[in-house]
Order: sequence, then C-alpha cells, then structure tokens
Amino acid sequence: MTKNLAGGCLCGAVRYSAQAEPMMVGNCYCTDCRKASGTSHGTHAAIPDSAFSLAGETKAFERAADSGNIVIRAFCPTCGCAIFSRNTGIPGMTFIRVSSLDDPDQVEPQITVYASRAPAWAPLDRSKPVFDLMPEGGPGAVLADG
Ligand SMILES: [Zn+2]
Ligand SMILES: [Zn+2]
Repeated sequence: MTKNLAGGCLCGAVRYSAQAEPMMVGNCYCTDCRKASGTSHGTHAAIPDSAFSLAGETKAFERAADSGNIVIRAFCPTCGCAIFSRNTGIPGMTFIRVSSLDDPDQVEPQITVYASRAPAWAPLDRSKPVFDLMPEGGPGAVLADG
C-alpha cells in the first residue's frame, strides 16, 4: 500500500512529497537527534530516494555517527525546521523527519533506538521493540544512526 506523504518546513519555503510506504519508522534518542529536535528524540521514516521529491532549498549539516558513517541532516535555512536526513552507510534511502509531515499520523513508529541516551523523563514506547543502541543489521539498521 503506497502512501502519499507530504510535508514541509515551518515557513513554507521547503516542501516535499513522497509516494511510498515507509520501510521503517523509528524513534531515535541519540544525542544528535535530540539536539536537532527541540525535544527528547527524532522520529524518522525511511523511504527510497526515488520516491522523494523535494521543492525549495535546504541546508545540510554533516556529522559522523557512532558507526563512522556520515549523517547528513537537511533543514530549512530560513526557519530551521528539520526536513530529512541521509546516511552514507545506507545509500539510496531518505529519512523523512516525521515532525515535518503535514499529517504525522500517516505513519507510526515501530521501534526505538538509542534508548540508553534518552532523558529520564522521556516516555519510551515499550509496546514495540526498544534497543539501547543501534541494533546491528536489525530492523533499526535502516535508521539514521548516531
Ligand atoms: Zn522554512
Ligand atoms: Zn539519532
């Protein structure tokens, strides 16, 4: 079942759409996702690059994850809204920041990673798999790590 995902930034300069059923949706509580998020974690929906269509200019911040892979975090240079990320260790995938979706209820997180770095006050969804770090080769391996 293909979804028609649409989203964009706060000021409206960046818009995107994606015709895809996300391969994975996950919460990441790593330090980088937290600092980029404004709260305790980032929620990412993994889709193929080929399904992702972007309009407007983004700026990107690149930083190495624990794995050594480079995570590229794209955001609106005007309003700072996080839009998507990519990971050099997972070519061909775009990780939409679920917070930027027009309707975030189109997706539902299936796993949580880097739970060991979550603030004590963060409510983790323990009804789904929770990993202390990034699971090797597991379902979370398609998430933007670090
Ligand atoms: Zn903007
Ligand atoms: Zn993260």
